[in-house]
Amino acid sequence: MKDTFKHQGMRQQLVEILVNKGITDKAVLKAIGKIPRHLFMDSGFIDHAYQDKAFPIAADQTISQPYTVAFQSELLQIKPGQKILEIGTGSGYQCAVLIELGAKVYSIERQQELFKKTSKFLPKIGYRAKKLIFGDGYKGLPEEAPFDGIIVTAGAPFVPNPLLSQLKIGGRLVIPVGDEVQVMTLFIRKGPKEFEKHELGEFRFVPLLEDKN
Ligand code: SAH
Repeated sequence: MKDTFKHQGMRQQLVEILVNKGITDKAVLKAIGKIPRHLFMDSGFIDHAYQDKAFPIAADQTISQPYTVAFQSELLQIKPGQKILEIGTGSGYQCAVLIELGAKVYSIERQQELFKKTSKFLPKIGYRAKKLIFGDGYKGLPEEAPFDGIIVTAGAPFVPNPLLSQLKIGGRLVIPVGDEVQVMTLFIRKGPKEFEKHELGEFRFVPLLEDKN
């Protein structure tokens, strides 16, 4: 569990890459420059940790590409103290970025193996989510709603209604929608039944799975 000058240097290069790809949010860039991404991957992959690439983690899942993490985080426009729901905890890397941005994070994961591993790991390196939940993200988290922001980190075949209804007025849902390829979609809740929708380019995610399969 080491973070060396070499890792820090590689992280600064990664931040440069993200700036060149168009990420401008200073707080997001600072978070990515600070979080030791190599610790979120199995040790064999350390040399890949600071490339702008997605990578395999346990249970056939992936840690999202840093650019994607930065892009989705930027879209949430988080202010410190805001309540954010993440669907798809995975390695916990995106969760750590949200915590660095000052959010109170609730995160749901449906793979028990990943849920257990990440629940142990995050506090060990100093990242405390408000709540990590083993469950189905399609339902959101009604008992903690409403949220200032909701971020889905797996490809959703459709937009689950519970997620829209668990947003505060003014709240933002960032969700990649589609089957093979996903369109990054931002919904801003303007009123009880009014949502503004923005489509922001194509991405590729592992699927947001329904039921237990
Ligand atoms: N945010 C993660 C990305 C993980 S990949 C990271 O930074 O590492 C997407 C994750 O979504 C996987 O861990 C997968 O198991 C999870 N997932 C898929 N379907 C889900 C569902 N219905 N509810 C909650 N999590 C789900």
